[in-house]
Amino acid sequence: MATVEIIFATNNSNKVKEIKAVTGKLLTILSLAEAGIDIDIPEPHDTLEANASEKSSVIHTLTKKNCFSEDTGLEIDALNGEPGVKSARYAGDDRNFQANIDLVLSKLMNINNRTAQFRTVISLIWNEQEYLFEGICKGQIITDQKGTDGFGYDPIFVPDGASKSFAEMSMDEKNKFSHRKKAMSKLLEFLLNQTK
Ligand code: IMP
Repeated sequence: MATVEIIFATNNSNKVKEIKAVTGKLLTILSLAEAGIDIDIPEPHDTLEANASEKSSVIHTLTKKNCFSEDTGLEIDALNGEPGVKSARYAGDDRNFQANIDLVLSKLMNINNRTAQFRTVISLIWNEQEYLFEGICKGQIITDQKGTDGFGYDPIFVPDGASKSFAEMSMDEKNKFSHRKKAMSKLLEFLLNQTK
């Protein structure tokens, strides 16, 4: 089967690396930079689904090409699902990873229930139609950050079934558990069926 070229509507190079590591030969992923697009896509909505849709539709309108985007949130049970859709800007508009981690840890201080999940929603625009795919990774927020790899909240999240944080894992290890990988696998299966 021929390789399918598709634009990934993100400026986050960590996400591009993670996605490229799982797509194999079926897809050629073009980041926004590789597609020659320099745009900061807004995330104005209050759900991951609406933000993912906004990002893919902005890029599709610009390029008229097949594309996908994703929006991810860390949903902490003891904080009623926060930071959720506000994950990037939890501690302020400068999207500072360390400040976001510090805020989560301070809100969870003295709280025993540390269960949380990462949830990714992918919006794919394929032949002018939109399709949504979800991936969830359940785990725990640890009390002290560990590890230096990855990005965002990786240093404080240990997925169920693992004994180290995402930030202590190689990308391949993270992808054995990852929310983004799970959503992406559903997208790949969909495309396999479409292009058979
Ligand atoms: P975005 O709006 O989908 O770009 O992601 C929101 C925020 O969630 C990011 O800025 C990160 O702080 C965090 N985030 C998203 N995915 C991950 C992940 O895989 N690990 C850790 N943090 C993540």
